[in-house]
Amino acid sequence: MKLLIKGGQVVDTVGLRLIRQDVLIEDGLVAALGNLDGEDAEVLAAEGLLVAPGLIDLHTHLREPGYEAKETIFTGARAAVRGGFTCVQAMPNTRPVTDSGAVAAFVRRRAMEAGWAEVLPAGAITVGQEGRELAPLGELKEAGVLAVSDDGHGVVSAGLMLNAMRYARMCGLMVISHCEDATLSAGGAMNEGYTATRLGLKGMPALAEEVMVARDILLAGETLCRLHIAHISTAGSVRAVREAKARGVPVTAEATPHHFTLTEEACEGYDTDTKVNPPLRGARDVAAVLAGLADGTVDAVATDHAPHTRAEKEVEFDLAPFGICGLETAVPLVFTELVHKGVVSAARAVALLSREPARILGLPAGVITLGAPADLTLIDPGLERTVDPASFESKGRNTPFSGRRLTGWPVAVVKGGRVLMRDGKLTAGAN
Ligand SMILES: [Zn+2]
Repeated sequence: MKLLIKGGQVVDTVGLRLIRQDVLIEDGLVAALGNLDGEDAEVLAAEGLLVAPGLIDLHTHLREPGYEAKETIFTGARAAVRGGFTCVQAMPNTRPVTDSGAVAAFVRRRAMEAGWAEVLPAGAITVGQEGRELAPLGELKEAGVLAVSDDGHGVVSAGLMLNAMRYARMCGLMVISHCEDATLSAGGAMNEGYTATRLGLKGMPALAEEVMVARDILLAGETLCRLHIAHISTAGSVRAVREAKARGVPVTAEATPHHFTLTEEACEGYDTDTKVNPPLRGARDVAAVLAGLADGTVDAVATDHAPHTRAEKEVEFDLAPFGICGLETAVPLVFTELVHKGVVSAARAVALLSREPARILGLPAGVITLGAPADLTLIDPGLERTVDPASFESKGRNTPFSGRRLTGWPVAVVKGGRVLMRDGKLTAGAN
């Protein structure tokens, strides 16, 4: 079976260039690049489109096992493909928590059965993500886990985090830190500041994040463990990561589209779809995250896709769960906010969603080269469309971007040589 992707601009995510090239796919691999004619191959027309490596999301909540009303591995893996992602890392805050090889194996098996996007389970740092006792990191590594995180909670004990980093380094695992000191943020519903005061909501200070970013950078400098800062959101955090990188600390960071697009003012109408953790911050913070993306301090864009049911979100702001559905809006937000506004080039934007997440995870992916698996995402950088949550493949509808006009959408996805999405719609099946 041969597939020819014809007439597109191939994104070189290493040299950060766009190259007018056709891509021939044979037996699931990239078989030829250049000026090619189809002959016996099926042709996927790509004039005016970017041909990107399959996008990778470092930070997705698929909710299964345990919270299948919010999302399942099947619906989440379909939502990923619809959003242009061929691979997602699933966060471990499920029920049970992914704190054993058995749960990690369950997630991998369910993802294989589902087809669609590849799912990499992340493990927990502590048993039950309770912050008391170290999870069996060696067992998680053997089950194929690449990174551990207590995402959803910060690990409050510095002593425990130090031990976690020592063991993680020995096992060859990366530690992903959800930086939040709960002793500073407990009970908060949005960013601390003038808007929270006016709305009568309890604030979560930037300091709650920055204290832990600073601490974990110190611990990574001590242990030389690979540290990755999840969903960086404040100016102080970006500054701390920039300084740490300059000193050679092995730290990387990701930012979410909502944190570089929206400010705390989005919470004005008490819309619970704007309630997220870390919270939407001030304009200065958004500017700092954008500057971090522009100068490479922030290495990657990740969605922090966090679906909830309508019923869970249809409560008072104080009581609503944190989270925004991100998989199906990430690419158009990146193109609208970063590329079309001149923050980064189109090639760099694609790298932030492919090559960089692959590098962070240590995966040989995120580049289009001869002989590589044919995981590709075709993006129409000029396509304008309105965000319609009713059309999501995700079970979640909780997005603050409903009704927003965005430019630059994924239109086709090829995984292992199979066309999983075409003209913006999922095809018959992945299996
Ligand atoms: Zn988190």
